[in-house]
Amino acid sequence: MKILVTNDDGIQAPGLWTLVEALRPVGEVTVIAPDREQSGVGSSLTLGAPLHITPLQFAPDSVAAYDVAGTPGDCVILGLGSVMPEGADLVVAGINRGHNTTNEILISGTVGAALHAALRGVPAIAVSLFLLDSAQYHIGAAAAAYLARHLQAWALPSGIILNVNIPHQEMQDIEGVMVTRLGQRRFTDTVEERDDPRGRKSRWLIRKRENIDVGEGTDLWALRQKYISVTPLDFTLSCLPASTLPDDLCGDLFQELKARLAPPA
Ligand code: MN
Repeated sequence: MKILVTNDDGIQAPGLWTLVEALRPVGEVTVIAPDREQSGVGSSLTLGAPLHITPLQFAPDSVAAYDVAGTPGDCVILGLGSVMPEGADLVVAGINRGHNTTNEILISGTVGAALHAALRGVPAIAVSLFLLDSAQYHIGAAAAAYLARHLQAWALPSGIILNVNIPHQEMQDIEGVMVTRLGQRRFTDTVEERDDPRGRKSRWLIRKRENIDVGEGTDLWALRQKYISVTPLDFTLSCLPASTLPDDLCGDLFQELKARLAPPA
């Protein structure tokens, strides 16, 4: 089994290497990760500049490792399209420091990497810790190795990724594993201004959250109940046909566009 491992915390992040150690017995591991922190970049790609792949000197035995001055999505595409000529059977992203839950996954570079694998028909797992804690890295890594082994026999439906989050608990205090749905929050991002030491104003984007649905059965709820959360995600994103949009949502939009913008016949 050929496994591509990436992350969004950067090539130096301890979660990445704990994951690699756990996956080495499962398959042939290739690491391609951003050369610096890329948290929060979501599924973004570098389209306006060339990308360079640098082999790493200090990778463990039998692991090919590279860093890229790019995003997690870039790493996946470079891996599947160039570094791994036979492609990969699985992409694993993580282990992220901090959970990737609720609709906030839309900005997650960890989930973004997994998305780019899924878009290319390659099964993918994103793994994150509720809070930064080196002990929990081992739990996330072991969970990823288990899922990787089982995905060899049990094919994930095309286009679906598994988003795994590990609660902030010692192993003996974890209650179990729960398959969850994505929680929903509303984000009211705001800006805080500070004077920096050079007398310029610096501005920080501050994430503020309002809960819409983080109740029973959601990823965040499971973590708070001390469960490992496994959320299957797809990326169809469309809300049709189950939505309750008005029938005349687009009314006479097309007629109006034609009347305004089409050259007279
Ligand atoms: Mn991160």
